[in-house]
Amino acid sequence: MKIFKLFLSLFLVCSFTTIPAQQNEVVIKTIQVSNSVYMLVGQGGNIGVSVGDDGVFVIDDQFARLTPKILDAIKELSDKPIQYVVNTHFHGDHTGGNANMEKVGAKIIAHDNVYKRLSEGKTTEGLPVITFNDKLSVHINGELVLVFHTDNAHTDGDAMLYFTESNVLHTGDNYFYKRYPYIDVNSGGSIDGYINAVKKALMVIDENTKIIPGHGNLSNKAEYASFLEMLTLLRTNVQAEIDKGKTEDDIVNNTAITKQYDNLNYSWNFINSEKIRRTIYLSLTKN
Ligand SMILES: [Zn+2]
Repeated sequence: MKIFKLFLSLFLVCSFTTIPAQQNEVVIKTIQVSNSVYMLVGQGGNIGVSVGDDGVFVIDDQFARLTPKILDAIKELSDKPIQYVVNTHFHGDHTGGNANMEKVGAKIIAHDNVYKRLSEGKTTEGLPVITFNDKLSVHINGELVLVFHTDNAHTDGDAMLYFTESNVLHTGDNYFYKRYPYIDVNSGGSIDGYINAVKKALMVIDENTKIIPGHGNLSNKAEYASFLEMLTLLRTNVQAEIDKGKTEDDIVNNTAITKQYDNLNYSWNFINSEKIRRTIYLSLTKN
């Protein structure tokens, strides 16, 4: 009995002392989405990976410090080289690994405005070498991948990607799974553009499409449609308050605007309900 207790206490001590280390250590989780497309979840934006005869095609690359782990996870799926990395937008949790990816031979593809914003930064490494304005078709691993821009949505340089044979959509940050979205109004994002981006994507996909959101769980069309309902309702509610002559502070403090979705836990540490009310207000009153 005493020995058992000793073991038990040793076990507890060991588990408690190892918990902090485990929390700091990011593990890259691989989820198979179709025959050839995978989703990698680590820290930052969800990564999409297509593998096949042509090589590896990657969507977003999280943070530079995670590259070795991301490359290990990709090696489990294919021993072919990484041909291309598409950036869905310029934010650091989606483009931080660009320079490392370039070093292993990948060509970076992104919207023109991603090139513009990244090249304004300090580094010249890992910049996109292929940029596009409206849309781009990539023929790789036996399928057509449609890369399409959506105006002033999450930022001013968003791309969404649709794998036409695999029937997989990667939304970039134009979808936060069951959370209030980050709309980067200071970098050209807007609530109306964001709503239009979701509508555009919903027109491309069908009931069987698998959706890799920018952040959060693998999803589907029905869930993306309910995310659109949330955006539309919040926009309507904020606009109604603006029409009544309410100020920014009034709207930020008015919890009734978001109550329905606050109750569903859409509020999270980065975008809480105050922040989403303020963002929508700022977006609607910008011009
Ligand atoms: Zn983002």
